[in-house]
Parts: sequence; structure tokens; C-alpha cells
Amino acid sequence: MDIRPSAPELGDTIAVIVQSNQGGTAQPTVQLNGQAFPVFPLEAGRFRALLPTSPLNSPGRYLVQVIGDEPTRNLAVWLKNRHFSVQRITLPPDRASIEGTPHEFERVATFKQLVTPERHWQVPFLRPSQGRVSTPYGVRRYYNGVFARDYYHRGVDYAAATGSAVIAPAAGRIVLVGRVRDGFRLHGNTIGIDHGQGVASIFIHLSRIDVTAGEVVQAGQQIGGVGSTGVSTGPHLHWGLYVHGVAVDPVPWRYGGIG
Ligand SMILES: [Zn+2]
Repeated sequence: MDIRPSAPELGDTIAVIVQSNQGGTAQPTVQLNGQAFPVFPLEAGRFRALLPTSPLNSPGRYLVQVIGDEPTRNLAVWLKNRHFSVQRITLPPDRASIEGTPHEFERVATFKQLVTPERHWQVPFLRPSQGRVSTPYGVRRYYNGVFARDYYHRGVDYAAATGSAVIAPAAGRIVLVGRVRDGFRLHGNTIGIDHGQGVASIFIHLSRIDVTAGEVVQAGQQIGGVGSTGVSTGPHLHWGLYVHGVAVDPVPWRYGGIG
């Protein structure tokens, strides 16, 4: 069993690579502290599971178990703590916020849970915008002095001019296209790419959408334009990278750090 990276920290995607003892095709199960994650074949009796982590995980010791390929293998992994910067947000008490619609929340939630067997993605992922990073992954918030326990910035923001190109960071199938006029009031114009095997990208606040649902896109292909639709304070691209429904840090994926 091989674990990459060997010293993971909060937000990392942990790749567990298993060589089957039988050299056969019996597919093992990989669990992280008892929670099972999908396993996909690589080649020659090897399998891989991707285990997402986020700033909401507690740092410390985790148990990775490979079951179903006797004997059961156990490995302790130490998830390192990591500092995330903090934003302090002041909201008026009578905040008349623009809330999202049930329609957009339902469609985005369904998108994040999608696990399809074909792997479209390859590392390293490409930068989806040429804009500078304006808000990194994982930033935590205080609202009116109270720590928002469940909040972290679930992606990377790039500041760029309205209409500038957004490209697919990796190949995949377009499985979510949402527009403001269809009820995407919070996310704005939105594209979701299924990269396969539980890995998916979401792009929100777009000025325009250049793809259609069901289409397969290649890494580097233009998919839309940077914008400020939905609840947004200025033109920027928000890219969220999800692994089995958890927003992970995209940066290691950009530099080939996924085994
Ligand atoms: Zn963002």
C-alpha cells in the first residue's frame, strides 16, 4: 500500500494505491476511519482510492484500511494541521441577502455527489484562468465576530476581466449547466465538469457559457467567460474542485501531486 502525499495536510487529496495480494482482479475496499471510499483499477492488479480532506477535518491520526484483499492492511496516516487565513465579515443585522434558490442548491448538491467509473482526468490540472489568485482555498471567516465553524472557501478565486477565457483544467463531461435565468441566483452562471471517478470541477459567476450539457471537453478547451453573475462583488472566477463531494485544495492537482 502506497500513500501519496506521504505527509498530507488539511485540504490535501490522499491517494491510496493498493497492489492486490492475489495479483488478481478482486477489488479491495479502502476505508478512512471506517468510512468507505470508491476504489478504481489502475493496471496490473493495482487499485487507487482518492480520500478527500478539508479544513473541517481534525488534524491528527487517521486509520487507512484495505479490506477484502486478505489480509486486511492497516496504515496510520498523520494529517498535518495547516494555517488558513481568516476574513472578518460584518453584516448588518437586518441583512436582506440574496439567497440561493432550492433549484440551484439541489442541482449543485447532485452534481457534487456524482461518481462515474471512467477516468477523464490527468495530472497536472491546468490553471482555468490567467487571472491572479484573489482568494486562495480554505480561507475561514468570522461573521460579526463569530467564527463560522462550517465555512471555508471551497475553491480558488481568480480575478480577471469580464469575458476573459475560462478553460477546462482537465478533460471531462459537462454535467451541470445552470443559468441565472433558470434560478442560479447565488452561483450565477455555472458549469460543472465531471472528470470521472468522483473528481469534479465547478465554475461559478460566469459571464457566459460556451458548452452544452453532455458534451465532453478536453483539458485546455475554452468553456466560458469570467463574470460577476450571482452573488459576487466583482468579476472573478471561482473554481471549486470536489473529490467525493468534498471541496479539496486544487493546488496539488495543478502540480501533479496526486499519485
Ligand atoms: Zn470563491
